Amino acid sequence: MSGLSLHLYARWRALAEAAPALREAEEAAPSERLLQRIWQHQRLRRDQLRTLDGQELVVLHPGFWNHEAGPDFRGAVLRFACRPPRSGDVEIDLHPAGWRGHGHDRNPAYRNVILHVVWDGGSGAGCALPTLALRSLLDSPLSELILSLGQEIDAPGLLAGRCSAPLRDLPEDTLREVLNQAALIRLQRKASELAARARQVGWEQSLWEGLFAALGYKQNVWPMRRVAELLPLLLARELKKRSGTFTLQARLLGVSGLLPTEPTRARASADHYLRRVWDHWWREREQFADFILPRGLWRFSGLRPANHPQRRLALAAHWLAAGHLPDELERWFGAPIPDHKLEMSLLEILQAGRDDFWSWHWTLRSARMGKTRPLLGAQRVADLAVNVVLPWFWMRAVAGKNDALQRTAEHRYFAWPKSEDNAVLRLARQRLLGGTNARALRTAAMQQGLLQIVRDFCAHSNALCENCRFPELVRGLNASLQGQDARG
Ligand code: SF4
Repeated sequence: MSGLSLHLYARWRALAEAAPALREAEEAAPSERLLQRIWQHQRLRRDQLRTLDGQELVVLHPGFWNHEAGPDFRGAVLRFACRPPRSGDVEIDLHPAGWRGHGHDRNPAYRNVILHVVWDGGSGAGCALPTLALRSLLDSPLSELILSLGQEIDAPGLLAGRCSAPLRDLPEDTLREVLNQAALIRLQRKASELAARARQVGWEQSLWEGLFAALGYKQNVWPMRRVAELLPLLLARELKKRSGTFTLQARLLGVSGLLPTEPTRARASADHYLRRVWDHWWREREQFADFILPRGLWRFSGLRPANHPQRRLALAAHWLAAGHLPDELERWFGAPIPDHKLEMSLLEILQAGRDDFWSWHWTLRSARMGKTRPLLGAQRVADLAVNVVLPWFWMRAVAGKNDALQRTAEHRYFAWPKSEDNAVLRLARQRLLGGTNARALRTAAMQQGLLQIVRDFCAHSNALCENCRFPELVRGLNASLQGQDARG
């Protein structure tokens, strides 16, 4: 440890967050930007959504945030009053009157809007569209959401940021500690999201939803989360006795909408399995017909075969069929495990055994591989650990006021080896740490810390780092460390 104040990064973050947060808290309503983030992250009591005209609403996908002109979210998929799902855009305004006030009613770019999301219904003329008021539907108090929700990264270009020079001047142990403090904030944010969901559906279901969402990788978080939300239905008591691995694979693939429409068009080597899946699914299909996800929810472009959602669901079926994953995780968390064995020990639990089909095929349609491939690799285990498993245990320890377990979760979080690089991390390294020559991020927590800084600071600035306070804060820290050296 470099002797930094334990709360240094939290104070820095508060400087970036507090001014708008306080302004927002003083106002009667949050900013539109915050409403957009709440919608994007679905920080809502999702099973209680109802439009102002009384229609039950299920959000199958919140859509993709549109940062250009036009509606706020494109391509959402919504189900109104148990009718078939509809795809369309979502517009977010503070009040219903914003629809006409902003001229959306006369703008053809808003023709595909299927839902108007507002803060509260209030009075004043809105639009003829179904309207959802968020005020009474948040999953946490607004003040908590203000602190925990940041913007997603707006790709800020490839130039090194203004903070890269002062960060380069920081002693290595100080940089590590700043990153670790930021990582702790990230752990707490993820944990509070799991806890918010647990308040609605219980701890175990919130764990399943977190695991499924993480298996969705970047592109398919929402449909995977939706499949997880259906688990209580898919594993209802009368179905449990008919829920072996193959049965569950067929059920998950069927309800996800990921089965090809024409089974005979698969490759010959995959045909037998696919046919069995179809035969099985057709017997159950009617029972789940109202819940089948539209195939259009899924994103496949740029997806590595190993991350294909069909494969991820096949793995999840193994976990569910085994029936003891949460207990196994509890045992893993309670056991004394040396740091260098953490990853492998968790992989042993999460890695399914040999699967007659999926060990040999990437997807339902792909040719048989020359050698078997695991359903889950070590790199993805790191993501599951730092994004779901450890935040979940950490939050449960906090909720149970168990300091020892909280320390265990934190120890494992900070000891976890670094996870797979990705485009967001690469960009963050480029901007903050000067690209490839940057000192290596040796742990998953340091990677997480870097992502948190991007979220807290880059996301409030732009490609030119305008109005970002981070460089000045790092320079101030450097000056004070040098002052201490000079005095010492
Ligand atoms: S916006 Fe701030 S934190 Fe992000 S790269 Fe620029 S100076 Fe660094």
